[in-house]
Amino acid sequence: MSRSQSPVWVIAEQTNGIVPNVCLELLGKARELGDEIGAPAEVFLFGGVSKEQIKLLFHSGAEVIYYCDSSDFENYQQEIYAETVVRQAKESQPQIIFLGSTFIGRELAPVIAAKLETGLTAHCIDLRLNQEGILEQIIPAYGGLITIICPEKRPQIATVAQGVFPSPEADTGRSGNIIKIEPPRGITTHVQTLEIVRKEPEGVPLEEAPIVVAGGAGAGSKEGWQEIANLAKTLTAALGSTRPVVDEGWMDLETMIGQSGKMVRPDLYIGVGLSGEQQHMVGISGAKVMVAINNDAKSPVFDQVDFGIVEDCHHFIPILVKKLKE
Ligand SMILES: Cc1cc2nc3c(=O)[nH]c(=O)nc-3n(C[C@H](O)[C@H](O)[C@H](O)COP(=O)(O)OP(=O)(O)OC[C@H]3O[C@@H](n4cnc5c(N)ncnc54)[C@H](O)[C@@H]3O)c2cc1C
Repeated sequence: MSRSQSPVWVIAEQTNGIVPNVCLELLGKARELGDEIGAPAEVFLFGGVSKEQIKLLFHSGAEVIYYCDSSDFENYQQEIYAETVVRQAKESQPQIIFLGSTFIGRELAPVIAAKLETGLTAHCIDLRLNQEGILEQIIPAYGGLITIICPEKRPQIATVAQGVFPSPEADTGRSGNIIKIEPPRGITTHVQTLEIVRKEPEGVPLEEAPIVVAGGAGAGSKEGWQEIANLAKTLTAALGSTRPVVDEGWMDLETMIGQSGKMVRPDLYIGVGLSGEQQHMVGISGAKVMVAINNDAKSPVFDQVDFGIVEDCHHFIPILVKKLKE
């Protein structure tokens, strides 16, 4: 197939020289969509990585890597990263740009979209092309799923969380070109990242946990939340949350499951005191067995799970924990 169409880009970051899975997953999607329309998948990579990581990007479908490996790019600098992408995008004219819904991607995507005067769809849960080759960006909204398109402006920009798409099969026969990118000259930066101090993750990471207990607003208070945390601890499960729990400050944002949080695929998911809103439920669509505990028998969560328990969690969870310990 001739590669005559303007490219599909993935903006990739790295942590300690490793490209996060979400960037590879997006590269797989970029290659799949690019193949449909004869467009190359290309990666814009910030920060130095090993030769093995570069090979992995080529094997995963990149035909070109725009490689920003100078020391100016080592730590995330929003204004420098955004300006670098924007200047190259004006030259290379990508038709699509994908970014991971990582902390960096979430901040960078709207800045790039605004500078290029185009649209952005955040936290997509699916991406496909319509018959005209326009990107359909699917997100949960208004109690269902909606499709967003950006018919006139280019590039079409979307962010996606880790785990939405599978990792692409590596094809060791693939290779491509590296184009070194220098930091842009003549831009004034207002904020500088001097150092990045990483918080060590506690317990089993949500995305890898075989059992996930997720709590919602039904916990009622920080003390009520502790009961749900106890259930997770007793089951050696990872503890997840819904948006209100994060808004209340009972848990950190990194524990939020759903459209704008994490995607989980446990063998067993137990949702406690949550209503089953789409924005949360898309994050657990890969769970094998789902259980909900809710005091409202009419709660929509019960239509979406395998087993439902109609109980007040403050009454039921301490008894369950006691029984499990016995
Ligand atoms: C663009 C966008 C993105 C979003 N992204 C996310 C996301 O990624 N993740 C996410 O979680 N949300 C997200 N949200 C918010 C989402 O729409 C819902 O508001 C949220 O998921 C609801 O959380 P909840 O179920 O905990 O709370 P509620 O909807 O308030 O439900 C609380 C439930 O607890 C039950 N309950 C109350 N008391 C008890 C008790 N004592 N025992 C047992 N049950 C009890 C109630 O019956 C009720 O069903 C997003 C929203 C938008 C607009």
